[in-house]
Amino acid sequence: MTVVLSHELDAALVAVRDAARICRSVQSTIAPDAMEKKDKSPVTIADFGSQAVVCRVIGDAFPHDPIIAEEDSRELLNEQNAPFLHLIHDEICKQCIETSKEQVCRWIDRGGAEEYSHRFWTLDPIDGTKGFLRKEQYAISLALIVEGQIELGVLGCPNLPLVPGQTDTAGSLFYAIRGQGAYVLPLEGDAAPMRIRVSQTSATNAARFCESVESGHSSHGASEQIAEWLGITAAPVRLDSQAKYAVVARGEADIYLRLPTKKDYFEQIWDHAGGVLVVEEAGGRVTDVTGKPLDFTHGRQLKQNRGVIVSNAKLHDAVLEAVRAVGVV
Ligand code: AMP
Ligand code: MG
Repeated sequence: MTVVLSHELDAALVAVRDAARICRSVQSTIAPDAMEKKDKSPVTIADFGSQAVVCRVIGDAFPHDPIIAEEDSRELLNEQNAPFLHLIHDEICKQCIETSKEQVCRWIDRGGAEEYSHRFWTLDPIDGTKGFLRKEQYAISLALIVEGQIELGVLGCPNLPLVPGQTDTAGSLFYAIRGQGAYVLPLEGDAAPMRIRVSQTSATNAARFCESVESGHSSHGASEQIAEWLGITAAPVRLDSQAKYAVVARGEADIYLRLPTKKDYFEQIWDHAGGVLVVEEAGGRVTDVTGKPLDFTHGRQLKQNRGVIVSNAKLHDAVLEAVRAVGVV
C-alpha cells in the first residue's frame, strides 16, 4: 500500500529549509581559522538552532510523534553556556521567528525521544560538523519511520551544487517517500522537484566510490583494499555528511563505503535514515557490511548492524563480496 504522506512531506521540507537558513547564517560568520583554533562555537549555535526550528515545525504539525534527535538542551542550561543560548535565540529571531529562550529549549527537547516506537521522526540537525566548520559539505537530515520502515526522508545539503560539477550556490534539497521516487529541488525558491536516479554502472573497475573525510569514521585502509580487489583505480571522493548518500542517489558516485573503525561503535540512526530512503527510492541499495538491511527498531542506534554499504544496486553484491574477501567482516 502506498502511503501518501503529503502533509508530512510539506512540514519536513519547511522544517529543513528553516534549519538550512540558520546553518547558512551561522556559517557565514565562521572565521577562516576556526578549525585551527578548534573553535566549535559556530557548530554549537547552528546545531541547536537547527534542531529547535525543525522540532518546532514537526512538533506543531504532529504533536503526538516522538522525535529522536541528536541534541538536548541540558548543557545549554549550564550557567557558563548562557551566551550560547543567547546567540541561538538571536539566530532564530533573525529568521523572523518570535520566541523566548525558554521556548527554544522546549523545542530542542522535543527531540529527546530515546526509544523505538511504531511511528517516530529522527533528526540530525547538522550532520558532518567538521565539514560545516571547513565550509565544505554538511547536511540536515530528517526522516519519518513507521513500523520500522523509513517512509519519508529529507536531506538538506546547503553546500552541494544543484547541478553536479557546477558551482551554483542555491544548495540542494533531496527528498523521498517510500514507493514514490527520489527528488531534488533547490533549497531556496519555488522550482519544481526533479526526479533523481542512481547510475547504471555495472563494471566494478569503472566504479566511483565515496567515503568520509574522517578516517576515524570509516576505515580508509580497508576501503583501499576493497577498491583494489574490485579493480577500481580512481581515487575515492571524500566528503562529509549524508551528502554521500545524495551523490550516490543522483548518480555522481556509484558506491559509498562506511567501514567500521572500532569494534564497539554503533552507527546512530540519524546519521543514516534520511539518506537511506533517498538512495533506495533512486534505485540504489543500502545494507550493512554483512549484507543485512539497516534495522531502525532499536532506538537511537543501529544496534544490529555493522558499518554501511551504499551502492547503485547493480554493484552491491560485488562490493559485499569484496568486503568479505578483504576480511572486513
Ligand atoms: P561523516 O561526515 O560521514 O564522517 O560522518 C559524521 C558522523 O560520524 C557524525 O555525525 C557522528 O555521529 C559519526 N561518527 C562519530 N564517530 C564515528 C565512528 N567511530 N564511526 C562511524 N561514525 C562515527
Ligand atoms: Mg551526524
